[in-house]
Amino acid sequence: SETSENDYDVVVVGGGPCGSTVSTLVAKQGHRVLLLERESFPRYQIGESLLPATVHGVCRLLGVTEELEKAAFMVKRGGTFRWGSNPEPWTFAFSSSPQFAGPSSTAYQVERMRFDKILLDNARANGVDVREESPVSDVVEDAGGRVTGVVWQDAKGVRHETSARIVVDASGNGSRIHTRTGGSRQYSEFFRNVALFGYFRGGKRLPAPNRGNILAVAFSSGWFWYIPLTDELTSVGVVLMPEALDRVRGDRAEALLSLVQECPMIAEFLADAERVTEGPYGKVRVRKDYSYIQDAFFKPGLVLAGDAACFIDPVFSSGVHLATYSGLLAARSINTTLRGDLPEQRCFEEFEARYRQEYARFHDFLVAFYDMHQDEQSYFWRAKKVTAGLGSDLESFVELVGGGSSGEGALVSSDRTAAFQELADFVHRPVDESGEDRDLLRTSLARSVSREGVRIQVQAALGENADEYVPVREGGLVPSADGMHWAPPVPRES
Ligand code: FAD
Repeated sequence: SETSENDYDVVVVGGGPCGSTVSTLVAKQGHRVLLLERESFPRYQIGESLLPATVHGVCRLLGVTEELEKAAFMVKRGGTFRWGSNPEPWTFAFSSSPQFAGPSSTAYQVERMRFDKILLDNARANGVDVREESPVSDVVEDAGGRVTGVVWQDAKGVRHETSARIVVDASGNGSRIHTRTGGSRQYSEFFRNVALFGYFRGGKRLPAPNRGNILAVAFSSGWFWYIPLTDELTSVGVVLMPEALDRVRGDRAEALLSLVQECPMIAEFLADAERVTEGPYGKVRVRKDYSYIQDAFFKPGLVLAGDAACFIDPVFSSGVHLATYSGLLAARSINTTLRGDLPEQRCFEEFEARYRQEYARFHDFLVAFYDMHQDEQSYFWRAKKVTAGLGSDLESFVELVGGGSSGEGALVSSDRTAAFQELADFVHRPVDESGEDRDLLRTSLARSVSREGVRIQVQAALGENADEYVPVREGGLVPSADGMHWAPPVPRES
């Protein structure tokens, strides 16, 4: 056993999209960050379909926009669904929402081995001390129950105990330390599905301009995802309802192929394709019990983000969005605490409130989306209800499933003019002192959400932002002028 002399401000456990995001945004503020990753990258991970909010929002803040462009990932303009009571496939485009204007109306379908490595290497380039093949086995606590560090093993097998002012658990669904916040994972009563997935070469593509879309096709036992990763390679997975669970008990590859035959549209798309049987894409994998939320997202010295805290369901590709968005929220909380601006408790409360709010939006919408007796118009209407959206039903739906109604929604727009215009419109909007308008301004979720989004949008586009907006809850904090801290809200001058 060896105790590291070199102690850190922050230790981040896990180098997936969440861990890379939080560590980079904290290190950029000059804090000393150690990131411990169990695997050696590139490593396999599921979760390949991204949202515009990740690609044009958080990734822009991280500074990887050019590298993502260079990687030439498949461009995703939206989704195509054979879903609900409509027997015909229907398509939505991110560009249907004014929030995703111009160049930010797209996302990527990514090979996670490549995407996650770009983010982790970028963390390194920003000063994060990244150690791979370094699993964390436990956290260290002081007598008062505050987490003060972690126990880990390096690539040579040497055990270390490293102290830090704050530990972040970003180690995903397989986290070994998430219970140390005191609570446990509450598994969803509703989403009790099982996923079975593999990779194919030579599958068909949707006609232009939708060839990069995610295709989701419901059938009697559940639904398929069909994600074009390259011109040749397609990620194909089936999400089975609990009643169909015994379908995955025998040979997995056979099970997948026979399920494909039960779903005519997927069978047709794969008619000339072959399943990949070698390399990291050669296995047919199973995931179950993946829908949960932790009771407590933090305790003194420890915060959970990304899948370590919660995950809902693959259907609208919200996983990496929630992971990177929560990474941004956690980074703000940590930066604020380390700078000594506000107490840790208050900062982490803000983190948890906003993260839960975003989780809840997706969760509530997805519950309604699994009602197959509705048509798409009804789903769009439901999205507007869930988000208290200001636009049309379709716009609300697209904002939500693009990661845009979260309060960081306008994250996705890199359009300088649009960003300023929206900000100006909002800030200069006349306030009717006597009437309901003022209450609306103060309390409406939609308003605060759009203001927050606008600010981040300006920040992402210009590297600066406006400093005044309203909190998303009573007594809550707002992002600081630099967007990387929290601050008490500045009272609006009347
Ligand atoms: P992860 O990506 O899991 O990263 C955690 C990292 O921590 C890993 O690299 C791991 O090696 C490391 N680690 C684990 N334990 C330790 C330890 N003890 N010490 C050190 N390091 C450790 N999301 C989407 O956005 N789009 C999709 O299309 C999508 N499809 C999905 C399909 C299925 C069937 C499932 C189950 C999920 C899907 N997701 C999807 C969700 C997505 O996989 C996750 O939400 C996302 O990967 C979470 O990122 P993360 O950084 O929190 O965790």
